[in-house]
Amino acid sequence: MISTIDYKQPDELGFYGDFGGAFIPELLRPNVEELNNAFLAMRDNATFQEEFQDLLRNYVGRPSPLYYSQYLSETYGAKIYLKREDLNHTGSHKINNALGQILLAQRMNKRKIIAETGAGQHGVATATACALLKMECIVFMGEKDMERQAPNVQRMRMLGATVIAATSGSKTLKDATNEAIRYWINNPDAYYLIGSVVGPHPYPEMVAYFQSVISQEIRSQLIEKEGKSVPDKVIACVGGGSNAAGAFHHFYCESTELIAVEAGGMGVDSGKSAATSALGIDGVLHGSKTILMQDEDGQVVEPHSISAGLDYPGIGPEHANAIRKERTLAINVTDQEAVDAAFELTRNEGIIPALESAHAIATLKKINFKSDEIVVINLSGRGDKDMSTYQKHYESIS
Ligand SMILES: *Cc1c(COP(=O)(O)O)cnc(C)c1O
Repeated sequence: MISTIDYKQPDELGFYGDFGGAFIPELLRPNVEELNNAFLAMRDNATFQEEFQDLLRNYVGRPSPLYYSQYLSETYGAKIYLKREDLNHTGSHKINNALGQILLAQRMNKRKIIAETGAGQHGVATATACALLKMECIVFMGEKDMERQAPNVQRMRMLGATVIAATSGSKTLKDATNEAIRYWINNPDAYYLIGSVVGPHPYPEMVAYFQSVISQEIRSQLIEKEGKSVPDKVIACVGGGSNAAGAFHHFYCESTELIAVEAGGMGVDSGKSAATSALGIDGVLHGSKTILMQDEDGQVVEPHSISAGLDYPGIGPEHANAIRKERTLAINVTDQEAVDAAFELTRNEGIIPALESAHAIATLKKINFKSDEIVVINLSGRGDKDMSTYQKHYESIS
């Protein structure tokens, strides 16, 4: 199947098919318009691009390697590459977007940055970029996530950020996002730095744009290694969907199969999962129309995932559209399958993945490959932040 629709391009109002848009209080409308104008201007601005590319290369350490995994290739019967976003400064893909938006905020003369965070990776990336560019930084984080990702809370504080606990609902990412939006409404002068391809237009398009460096690099790295720029499959985990959007970006109009991996939690039918596209229906969440997990009264269902970064009841509108139109295949992976995959990768490749990324690795057991297929798995982050969770599971199996 070769796609002729450009799934990565929303219309002028920010709609990807039926999904997206900007469902926000009128009070915030000027902010979002100002942001959209700044983004459109900077995207084509040579000085901005130079500065952004320089930071990606010399501060983040890009390009991240495209690593051929002999073990995974032999075990699963395909040519399997890992895109090593875990090797970026601060340990995940989040820094690509945080730096892009901070440069934009600086040009918009904003001094105060607010952000929400789940696993803490976006909070750390934002606090890092704020330290670098001398911005004030406030990060909202679910109380439960502050416990399970304690090392990242310490990092943010050391970097000079103020971390505010979200204590409502499930005390996770959705609640932190609600708090950040509430703060933004009361402080419209602040720049809201969203960490995934969610939120009102232009955030999904802008975040995907800053993350698209991932698929751009994959293309040129594959030419070097395989003599062709287009892989057969790209696999990425999806919380909101920014690492997936970045890994898919330059392949939507190619024959590449795109596989989005959602958190199945304790099992899709267990009532404890974050398998949004399997369980969700259309609705509006955090300023954008998308697929989300909700009950008959339209109340958001509390999601569950062992990984804080995937513990979100919605999905970015780009993915909602591509999954609904069957351009992207959604698969889900349980907590246990993800932990098992993390140990498998660690013991055989010496790479401890983030729990989120482990979901992408775990799908290898669920797919049949042709032996000459080229498969790229986006290894979105490293596992340092997840050591206490891994430790618990390690003790229980040894
Ligand atoms: C935040 C995070 C994710 C999930 O966010 P996306 O926007 O879906 O990419 C996945 N992996 C890691 C390592 C993360 O930090």
